Order: sequence, then C-alpha cells, then structure tokens
Amino acid sequence: MAELLLSRGTVIDGTGAAPRLDTSVLVSGDRIVSVGAEADVAAAASHATVIDVSGLTVMPGLIDAHVHITLGEPASNDELFFRREPASAAFVAAHNARKVLQAGVTSFLDVDGLFNIGPALRDAIASGAVEGPTMKAGTYALMTAVGGTAGRFIPDHGTAGYAEVVRDKDEMIRVVRRQVKDGSDVIKVHVTGAIPTRSGEIQVWTRDELKVVCDTAHDLGVRVSAHCRGDGATLDSILAGVDIIWHASYMGEASLEAMVDRKVAVGPVFTFLANLDEYGAKAGAASSVQDVFHREMEQTGAMMRRAYDAGVPLLCGSESGFSITPYGHWHAREMEVFVEHLGLSPLEAITCCTSTNAVALGQQGEVGTIEPGRRADVLVLEGDPSRDVSILGDKSRFRHLICRGREVDLAPIPERTPLHTEKTASWSAVPLTWDMVHG
Ligand SMILES: [Zn+2]
Repeated sequence: MAELLLSRGTVIDGTGAAPRLDTSVLVSGDRIVSVGAEADVAAAASHATVIDVSGLTVMPGLIDAHVHITLGEPASNDELFFRREPASAAFVAAHNARKVLQAGVTSFLDVDGLFNIGPALRDAIASGAVEGPTMKAGTYALMTAVGGTAGRFIPDHGTAGYAEVVRDKDEMIRVVRRQVKDGSDVIKVHVTGAIPTRSGEIQVWTRDELKVVCDTAHDLGVRVSAHCRGDGATLDSILAGVDIIWHASYMGEASLEAMVDRKVAVGPVFTFLANLDEYGAKAGAASSVQDVFHREMEQTGAMMRRAYDAGVPLLCGSESGFSITPYGHWHAREMEVFVEHLGLSPLEAITCCTSTNAVALGQQGEVGTIEPGRRADVLVLEGDPSRDVSILGDKSRFRHLICRGREVDLAPIPERTPLHTEKTASWSAVPLTWDMVHG
C-alpha cells in the first residue's frame, strides 16, 4: 500500500490539544497509521514518499456540518424554485463538490437539497466517479403545508425546490421511509416557517408530529435534523427526539436545559447571517435584514456559548450553497464567528470544525483528528490557525490536501458561465411607463 510521510510539521490534531512541534504523520492507503517519532521510524523502514512539511501546520481536513451542495448558489427563491432542472443541477453539484474540497473540506453533511441528488452525488464520490469530499446526505426537507422559509413557494402537497410537503402523520411515515430507501443519511425537518403576512418564523409542526418523524427514522437507523428559528420549536424538537438542531434562534432557558440534558448537537449556522451583516453591502445585498441578523447572532450566540460550556456538541456549518455563501469560499467563516461572537479560542473553534463535526456525519472516531487509525484527511498550510482561524479561509496558504489518503490537486478550478436557464432574467428593472419616455 502506498505510504506517505508528512515530515516534521506542527500538528494540530483536532482533539483540542495544543499544537505539537516537529511531529511527523505517516499515512498508509486511506489511513493515518502513526504520529510522532514512531511515524519517522516506520517510514524509514517502508520506502514511504516523504514530504517535508517543517514550518507548516498539519491538521485534519475541515468538516462542514451544514452544506446545500445541490442548490447551485441561487440569489433568490425565484431562482432556486423555478430555475433548477434535475440533470443539470446534478452536473453543477458535482462541479461544486470539487470547489468545496479545494477549500480544505474533506467531508461534509449535505443537509437537504434538490431532486435526491445528494445521496447520488455521495455515492458517485465514494465510487471515484466524481472528485469531492466524503459526503453524508439528506434529501428533500420535510415541511407541513404551512411551509418553510420560502413562504408561498411551498405547495400544498408534493415537492418543490428542496421541500417535500407531508400533510398528515401517515404521510410523514410514508415519506420518511421512502427517503430512507432513496439513500438519505439524515432526515431534515423545517420546524419553523415564514408566513408572508407574519413577521419572523412561526412553528409549523406539533411535538407529536415531530415524534412520528423521529420514531420512524430512528427505527430505520437514520437520524433527524431540524431547522428551528424560535424557542418553542427548539424545545419541541429536542423532546420529540431530534438529533441535531440547526439555528436554535432565540433559544430560551427550557430549551437550553433540555439540550444540555440530552446532549443534543446544535449548529447555529451563523455564517449566512454574518456574511449578510458584515459583507452584504459588498455584494449589493438588501440591507433590511442586517439589524435583525446582528441581534440574532448576539442573543443566540450567548445561549450557544452556555450550551457549549455545558458539553453540548457545537457544530460548525457554513450554509454554503447560496449567493451569500458560494461554494469553496466560506467554509472556515463559522470558526471566525465562534471566536468573535461566542468567545471560543481559535483552537476550540478548530476542534468544533474537525472532531466535533464528526458528530454531524455520525462518524466519531473515524474522521476529524490526526490520530492512528483515523481516515487520512489532512490539510497542510502555511501559518498558525491556532492563533488566527481566519487564515483557514485563505486557500493561497494551502500547501497540501490529502483526502482519503490521496493528494488533491489544488490548481484553481476555472470559473464557469451560467447555464441557459439557470438565472432569472427580467425584461426591465422597472415598468417602462409613458411618463418615463415623455415626462
Ligand atoms: Zn441550511
């Protein structure tokens, strides 16, 4: 089996331990087999290929707990719901998986997405037909007919975009079973939704209904994750048995207590909010929501910190897949937010984005650390992310990336042009009135 020695780098192992200077890592096939002096000795006896990484940081490949690989960076719900076709969306998703990989991400959870592409892409990557990070995948997000964040784009039944509407408990059972058959690793539920005439998101599932989904999925060995903006949704999801809570916006004391009691993993997925809040203007984003998002990060961030201190697995996810969070650009941004808004140390944030994120994949003990027996997913870069995590967003610092034991080509992927039907187009920016011409 091909052996590779990453010789004498500074190892951040992903467990939270302090960086270890002058430490070698030996890879054999798709596994890390030894670390430290043992690795040097074993490599000398085995004709391993040696890469000198002295002066560089060696760490686990990043794990992204929250990606939507099939959405294709839409700038609006109009584009997302009406400008996507199954075959072309699958090709574009395969293209984007390479971008995610080149950003140092060696595995990710595709939370939900379009047309059952997620499980198919996961399998294509595993088979070697497509290059990309190791994936775990969901499929359509379950919604009641009240809908999710896309308001009236959600139909009364059937599928639209990333949504699948379930109208009653029988249908919940039927659809969960079919999604498991279709290859879903995790069932996603949109517990809250935006109603056009109401402000904020309201809870659109009952605890009983959530329990039906959880029981059906768990009986088949599949986990459930839930989108929750609002305290009641978070509490009911936890009590119903949901395994991962996303957002947990405005979480209250009872939710926090239940989360801590059951050690339910939580991912705030602040990156989308943080990007809009801090950088939105650079991309011409609407400014109306920035204040709301800023407040949400402050309030929810304080509760997240308490959950983290009480031992809740804090997941690091980027929401990559939208025009505010394009693929391959922001996978390290959530770590910056954890440092800035939650007061984590850079090393603690790195631990969230590596070994803790293995929880999101259901792969604890398999990925996320530099230890013997773990999968050989290794990032080598210039600089010390244990002092400044933001450097993990700078791909120009990456020197080597090993994914499943193989070195990844880091030569930039050429930009592509949009497909014919991919973007929404307008005839004009405003109505062409008679006055505009003659006034
Ligand atoms: Zn999401």
